[in-house]
Amino acid sequence: MNIYNKLVKEIKALQKTTEWFSIGKTALHRDIICFKLGSDSGKKIFIQAGIHAREYITSFLLIEIIKYLKLFQINGQIYIVPLANPDGVDICINGTKNIKNKNKKKFVETLLKYEDKKYYKANANGVDLNTNFDAGWGTGKFNNLLYPATQNFVGYSPNSESETKALINFTKQLNPNLTLSYHSKGEVIYWGFDNQSKETDYEQKKYLKQIVKETGYKPIFTKNSGGGYKDYCLIKLNIVGFTIEVANDNVPHPVPLKELKNLFLKHKDLVLLLLKV
Ligand SMILES: [Zn+2]
Repeated sequence: MNIYNKLVKEIKALQKTTEWFSIGKTALHRDIICFKLGSDSGKKIFIQAGIHAREYITSFLLIEIIKYLKLFQINGQIYIVPLANPDGVDICINGTKNIKNKNKKKFVETLLKYEDKKYYKANANGVDLNTNFDAGWGTGKFNNLLYPATQNFVGYSPNSESETKALINFTKQLNPNLTLSYHSKGEVIYWGFDNQSKETDYEQKKYLKQIVKETGYKPIFTKNSGGGYKDYCLIKLNIVGFTIEVANDNVPHPVPLKELKNLFLKHKDLVLLLLKV
């Protein structure tokens, strides 16, 4: 089965058995689905994945983790958006074949003239969503400030994209204790951000220690990067956030789905442990 269709099917199946809601719409008017697990009180953890289109293995990973978490009586609240950028993932796998709007189709076809679709990271507006947040916006080493592209374009203004706005609004409303952003490749954990408030220091270190212990990934203080979701959480919302890069650097993009089993085994218990930190 086509990988994108498989992803959509998995999410639809979960919607039948799990509490869910939409946090907003994408550029192509798809819903951004959030699943809710656990109790109605206690610590709140929010996890999002698949914001970079070609990193869709993280969406499959979070779907498997949701299925696993459903087996437990959870003391605490877990919110998971497994697929933050469905338009981008569709383009990465199918090119423009599912885009109905003629102008939008033409626009994305132009972007794809310069790069193979399988490396697509952006949303359907050619904006790299994890550089679009209003936190050090446009200051990243690889940022493109000028024109839409398959990756690295920060948008014409900070928080310009509907997906960005949806994540911000939801995070503000939820006010979680911790956010995790799943990305693929490097086996590292990005933490901290320039000019972050000292307020979250203690909490950050506490959670970071547990994530390093469980995954064995290397912690790296965020430098030469900006406009990311976790950066926004840290400097604008005073919410602790980490970017977790799963999978070994030696595997190609997109990370082959055969890596899923090992990733699942490494990450399945992480959120349960973090609820107890
Ligand atoms: Zn990424």
